[in-house]
Amino acid sequence: MVSERPFQSEEEFVRWLQKRAVGRVQGLRLGIGDDAALARVPSGREIVMTTDLSIEGVHFSTRLYTPETIGYRAIARSLSDIAAMGAVPKYALVALALSKRASRRWVESLYEGMWRLARRYRVGILGGDTARYSGKTLLDVAVIGEVARGKALLRSGAKPGDRLFVAGTLGLSAWGLELLKARARKGMAHEALRAHLYPEPQCGLGRYLAKEGLASAAIDVSDGLSTDLHRLCEASGVGARLWESRIPRPQASANGRLQARLLQFALHGGEDYRLLFTSSAAKVRRIPSSFQGIRIHQIGEVFAPRKIVLMHEDGAEQLIIPQGYDHFRKS
Ligand SMILES: [Mg+2]
Repeated sequence: MVSERPFQSEEEFVRWLQKRAVGRVQGLRLGIGDDAALARVPSGREIVMTTDLSIEGVHFSTRLYTPETIGYRAIARSLSDIAAMGAVPKYALVALALSKRASRRWVESLYEGMWRLARRYRVGILGGDTARYSGKTLLDVAVIGEVARGKALLRSGAKPGDRLFVAGTLGLSAWGLELLKARARKGMAHEALRAHLYPEPQCGLGRYLAKEGLASAAIDVSDGLSTDLHRLCEASGVGARLWESRIPRPQASANGRLQARLLQFALHGGEDYRLLFTSSAAKVRRIPSSFQGIRIHQIGEVFAPRKIVLMHEDGAEQLIIPQGYDHFRKS
């Protein structure tokens, strides 16, 4: 139910949030309405925290995205970081600096998008802070999760000889963005657009890998395989060899140029939010071939030289330089 009448006061907005944020959140003692939220931490558990900014003009444009998808994607980014730690997401705090141009309908849809994903993972959105100003809309989503003590998946545990895995297809989101800009809607476009607009964080898989102790290191692919694999390798002090034929990418028709582009998207495109992880050779047999309907692909192996190489099908070796998204890199 969307109201056209603007919120008259911050109190009214908070009351609306309280009323809409239905459902009990396990472990939560105090939600919206006091100076801060209050939650229990069960014994033997550790807290995992992450925060992600979504800025109009940087992470989204209101021309390409509906407020509902902006909200959904903002939550997905933070949930994916929690998934990459092998943790269970529990609570979210949303700080919102809202452009004066944004209508009440826009704000409500933004929250609908956030709730849509948060509810599926039983994450309580506990409010946060909201201000209106003359600038562009900016939202910051902080997510707090839990993991059994000592079980969190880190980027830093990969060792030479470990195998490298990714769960699901890479490059679909980058292709989806291209199709979104071109306003394409047919055939494969549907799947790619969906992957871009409604990415699915792999919380279940992260939790499984942590619980079973199967991964030596993990990261979520948010800025592109080349960039995120580089981060994992840097943290672990290792390098990696990727096999071109094994990299799971969108399959298009027998269009050679498009196929080459899709490989580039898979290597360097961002926002797929797939888990990239390593596992020791001894544990490889215990890695399932699929998890919750998503195929897990062995795409390479870890080695000692601190570089990333791509092995082509003809045996040629290519050095891979991180080309994914980096806000600090000069374009
Ligand atoms: Mg991440």
